[in-house]
Amino acid sequence: MGSQEVSASQDSWKGLRVTVAGLGVSGVSVARALAGLGAAVTVVDGGSGPALQARAAELAEAGVAVRLGDAETLPEGTGLVVTSPGWKPDSPLFAAAAAAGVDVIGDVEVAWRLRGPGAAPWLAVTGTNGKTTTTQMLASILRADGLRTAAVGNIGTPIVDVVLEDRAARAARAAEAGDERREDDNAYDVLAVELSSYQLHWAPSLRAHSAAVLNLAPDHLDWHGSMEAYAADKGRIYEGNQVACVYNADATAKPSTEDLVREADVEEGCRAIGFTLAAPAPSQLGVVEGILVDRAFVPDRQKQAQELAEVSDVRPPAPHNIANALAAAALARAFGVAPQAVRDGLRAFSPDAHRIEHVADVAGVAYVDDSKATNTHAAQASLAAYESIVWIAGGLAKGATFDELVAASAKRLRGAVLIGADRALIREALARHAPQVPVVDLDRTDTGAMAEAVRQAARLAAPGDTVLMAPACASMDMFTNYNKRGDAFAEAVRELGASA
Ligand code: ADP
Repeated sequence: MGSQEVSASQDSWKGLRVTVAGLGVSGVSVARALAGLGAAVTVVDGGSGPALQARAAELAEAGVAVRLGDAETLPEGTGLVVTSPGWKPDSPLFAAAAAAGVDVIGDVEVAWRLRGPGAAPWLAVTGTNGKTTTTQMLASILRADGLRTAAVGNIGTPIVDVVLEDRAARAARAAEAGDERREDDNAYDVLAVELSSYQLHWAPSLRAHSAAVLNLAPDHLDWHGSMEAYAADKGRIYEGNQVACVYNADATAKPSTEDLVREADVEEGCRAIGFTLAAPAPSQLGVVEGILVDRAFVPDRQKQAQELAEVSDVRPPAPHNIANALAAAALARAFGVAPQAVRDGLRAFSPDAHRIEHVADVAGVAYVDDSKATNTHAAQASLAAYESIVWIAGGLAKGATFDELVAASAKRLRGAVLIGADRALIREALARHAPQVPVVDLDRTDTGAMAEAVRQAARLAAPGDTVLMAPACASMDMFTNYNKRGDAFAEAVRELGASA
């Protein structure tokens, strides 16, 4: 049965004229996958530089046509448009598609449609911040329970590639076993899927086993148009959930993630599960005396709670990261993972670089790289994790304001060193809400600027303090990306250590 169904869904791509918008990582993966299934694929991209031309030449060998230098007109005869996540919904290409009655979907939707029957279920994660960390924690917990899994979506291997690998494994097993489905047919038992708001926007038929929205703060509003539209796209992750919709029970801002659960249309019997840094109510996971506890997936949630792990099993044990761990644990428990595996998985997990990464101690001062804190919500979480901070901040504000962040963090600031294009916005917020805090305003953007920032921060810091680079801004005014910004910080700290 299995192999027949797989080939039936494979057939639906045959001969279909697909236009892929964007020659980036996801565009290339989608183009190859669909061409491999017999679709007639054209990738369009507005650029035409040498890197794109090289990529186009490679794709040509795989039978994919590429049109460079025109991202606006719809190729003749297009039956479906597959967009890369970053393309804005008001792009002219999509207007042309709408006018021609052609659907626009994203890479996640393609992956979802390609899964075929019997495919590994998805545990999905979104939120303004903490997606990657939580998805990786989840994968680590699932692995600790002996499950075959991968962290995919907005991270790692393109999701379409992983789904096709899973599908090929099933087809091969089915062929081997004379068409009989077996328990171990899949390459994966379950996938931990990180989804951005863009990907959710373009994935209308996605139906996860269970899903979590970690938090909601204004971000990417230029793309979505409004906070409501952004929240609505995030909320799509709950549509059709089968077992659990996991929400942040501590969130006070509106709409809350719990509001999004209420609005979703889910499968019969699917439960709303909250996570909180306080003691959990029934149907929640939370924290009691330094222990992560589950009061949701226990036989009697009125009377029982199951110990999962200790706060010290979570690295770094900052409040926002405990919340991430609880959300990951909730999804894992919804999938039936044993309590012990939650602890083992959290212990085995180490965060990616540039996420509250302890670089070194120099003269009794800790230097921490949170270059990934590219918006105010993330920076606020990271500032909340330390008592006495010299804060390195600034870059591209992307339309953000800094009053709330500075007001909430003022008590913890020993000093601030500001860098980058929009540093005046932060300086003004500091003057309004933390006038006592000494501020160094660095008016240079050359390659030595970060080293200077670190030296100035060292001057302001006292033993026991933390110098925290959590810029609350994007990096592209001074660096290629947040990785490079973090690397520059680490290098500067090493130099400081060498000269100390
Ligand atoms: P994302 O994938 O959503 O960008 P990451 O896990 O890469 O999230 O973390 C990005 C940054 O957001 C981190 O550097 C950290 O400062 C911050 N962060 C992580 N988790 C949370 C959270 N739950 N709430 C607020 N900020 C967070």
